[in-house]
Amino acid sequence: MALVTSISSPQLGYCSSSPPPRRPRCRRLSPAAAMATSATPRRSKEATVIVGAGVAGLATALALRRLGVGATVLEQGETLRAGGTSLTLFKNGWRVLDSIGVADELRAKYLRIQGLLPAERRMRMRSPAAGGRDLREFSFEEEAPGQEVRAVERKVLLETLASKLPAGTISFSSKLKSIAEQGPDGTLLELEDGRQILSKIVIGCDGVNSPIARWMGFSEPRYVGHMAFRGLAEYADGQPFQPKVNYIYGRGVRAGFVPVSPTKVYWFICFNRQDPGIYSQIINAMISLSTKDKKMSLADNSCHAAGVFLAGPKITDPAALKSEALDLVRGWPSDLLAVMRSTPDGAVVRTPLVDRWLWPGVSPSASRGGRVVLAGDAWHPMTPNLGQGACCALEDAVVLARRLAPAADAVGAGVEAALRAYEAERWARVFPLTARAGLVGALVQWENPAVCAARDGVVIPRLVRLGPFLEHTNFECDLLDPAPQTP
Ligand SMILES: Cc1cc2nc3c(=O)[nH]c(=O)nc-3n(C[C@H](O)[C@H](O)[C@H](O)COP(=O)(O)OP(=O)(O)OC[C@H]3O[C@@H](n4cnc5c(N)ncnc54)[C@H](O)[C@@H]3O)c2cc1C
Repeated sequence: MALVTSISSPQLGYCSSSPPPRRPRCRRLSPAAAMATSATPRRSKEATVIVGAGVAGLATALALRRLGVGATVLEQGETLRAGGTSLTLFKNGWRVLDSIGVADELRAKYLRIQGLLPAERRMRMRSPAAGGRDLREFSFEEEAPGQEVRAVERKVLLETLASKLPAGTISFSSKLKSIAEQGPDGTLLELEDGRQILSKIVIGCDGVNSPIARWMGFSEPRYVGHMAFRGLAEYADGQPFQPKVNYIYGRGVRAGFVPVSPTKVYWFICFNRQDPGIYSQIINAMISLSTKDKKMSLADNSCHAAGVFLAGPKITDPAALKSEALDLVRGWPSDLLAVMRSTPDGAVVRTPLVDRWLWPGVSPSASRGGRVVLAGDAWHPMTPNLGQGACCALEDAVVLARRLAPAADAVGAGVEAALRAYEAERWARVFPLTARAGLVGALVQWENPAVCAARDGVVIPRLVRLGPFLEHTNFECDLLDPAPQTP
């Protein structure tokens, strides 16, 4: 239940009839926050604010709501993120989506993947389109019974989660600018447009470049030395592939594609690039100078996002991006190339891969002052080599909601204990997984010909066992029953 009182802020909660500067759209605030506008307050109070309407933020809002706790979600964008191709969700992700009541709606739209087809990329000069030989075929049914794998469009996942929240829960165009402790009153959030929100509990779901994590003392995510291209191919008349994940391994480059729906196919390429960009050192230095205050201004976030993770020259022309991706896999199997060519230019993205290992005794706590806590990539960015980032963000959401809901109406120690219990439970899960994802990425990105030959000749065909390899997808959670009394 969002608690809003008073208070005095001229900029809170209004619609387009009387817009202040720099607000092109009607802003949606929680109903309670909207009520505060009649007194033209300078500052509002909320019980629970979630920063970031990504996977973690929306799933946390929904899980809390199902347990009877309302929250306001602040999102910097004018809308939910529209791009972002697709996310492969494993059975742990589906358990969470079941528990918060959205899984079946998504299952109806996305194909269940039956298995894996890893292939080797061999240079065949005479027949470039011939590609390499199949190394092995895995069936989930035989090797990992009960596994559920589907690739879902990120946009649709976010829309589905958001559609289950009460109207007005998400406040768009609400970019967090600064955050400061206010003693027993809570935490003060200042937005770019001047609004201020004093919140009892703040949940930082603001992603890999999280300003809140930086304020809490977390180090910058580490660039791991490889980048990813991703795209979503469209086949208006139906895509031609079996529901299997296709992997193709080269030297320092690997690619894959997976059917998403009857008309869409997701593909990716991971490639090595050692230089994380000349700007990174300059920007890192700027950030470390600017984060020394207790109240931290987050104004440097945009240059941080553009600079620290800028690996190689920035390409903004979508057609150039696609052409760079195609250059990386010239001569690779023809089905991969066909999928890439069936991708609209605007549906290709390039992302440097980063992670942050939560070393015990070194990494800061996931909560600060018993009032601010992190979830999802904001806390534990991990490389996508196990397809677990979003799955873990979903897991965080239900665990945090379960811990927090009984304490949310209390003050002080109850909330602090709940946040610590959440951290203890989740740290044991996400630290090993982050490390494992990083190590798997390092192994599969090897360029050394002897290592690649061993991978293609022995490791994949003979040693890999899918069941044990996917044990990290075991995660159980009960259904979170809807709380009818919530508005
Ligand atoms: C190449 C690649 C492939 C991946 N593939 C998979 C996969 O197959 N399966 C899987 O499970 N995971 C995958 N992931 C990981 C997954 O994308 C992330 O783990 C997931 O998106 C994390 O969700 P989040 O909500 O924590 O962060 P985000 O999705 O980044 O959401 C953060 C939100 O916070 C908002 N925000 C940020 N700053 C502010 C601010 N100052 N004020 C207000 N709002 C703010 C942002 O606009 C955004 O909406 C992949 C990642 C990459 C890079």
